[in-house]
Amino acid sequence: MSHINNPMEIFKLLNGSNCRECNEKTCLAFAVAVFKETKQIHACPYLDKEVIERYGGAIEKPNTVDEYKAEAIEILKQKISLIDICEAAKRLSAPFSNNKLTIKIFGKNFSIDTKGNISSEIHINAYMAVPALTYILNSSGKFPNGNWITFRELSGGPSRYAHFQQRCEKPLKRIADTYTDLFKDMLEIFDGKQIVSHIDSDISIVLYPLPLFPIMVCYWKPEDGLESSLHIYFDVTSDDNLDIESIYTLSEGVALMFEKIALRHGA
Ligand code: SF4
Repeated sequence: MSHINNPMEIFKLLNGSNCRECNEKTCLAFAVAVFKETKQIHACPYLDKEVIERYGGAIEKPNTVDEYKAEAIEILKQKISLIDICEAAKRLSAPFSNNKLTIKIFGKNFSIDTKGNISSEIHINAYMAVPALTYILNSSGKFPNGNWITFRELSGGPSRYAHFQQRCEKPLKRIADTYTDLFKDMLEIFDGKQIVSHIDSDISIVLYPLPLFPIMVCYWKPEDGLESSLHIYFDVTSDDNLDIESIYTLSEGVALMFEKIALRHGA
């Protein structure tokens, strides 16, 4: 029996037709209901017997606290308490006042003081906190220059590319395919900027998860029998401002945040 850790894993098994034969409004709502165990997976008549046998009763609720990341955050905060953060602010071209260095995460203030205490205008999950603290510690402060490259072209990117596709690009593509407000929400909630089409994409959005670390999300709609596609691009200076592990974590965090938003709205 395979384990299911979140509703998107169930959603990926469904045909996406939103036919309502399961008495839910959408396949996404059905996936949430199965995950919450208010519905059995066999209530969808379009699933193969083999899939039902493999996933029936396979819900496994994950720990809400990622202990590894919580520990990493504490270590990074301690490291920051040992550096001169006024100098770090200068390196990052970030404001420093009242003993606090402030950076913007998706346009919202995130501050850390000389003792390593964090304060923020928005809830920052571990997927954002680890890259943000790593950025404060290690970013060279190099300004992005608007030349975009793929994850595979980043230093250390090739060996992690398969996971990156699986955990970051594919979930976002699935959401974009079914949740038409994805890009509108990217603009509104995460202070994104729509830019002129990149490589003939139908939609190109630039987000600033960190001030000197933009990402560009491009989506191509399905056309003439060709599947849709979605890719995330990085500024060519990204390696100077964040290590590959943090880039991966941050991209995964973006995908997870949008999965949550899509589930909330789609359900
Ligand atoms: S989960 Fe199955 S039955 Fe329910 S809407 Fe989707 S395809 Fe139809």
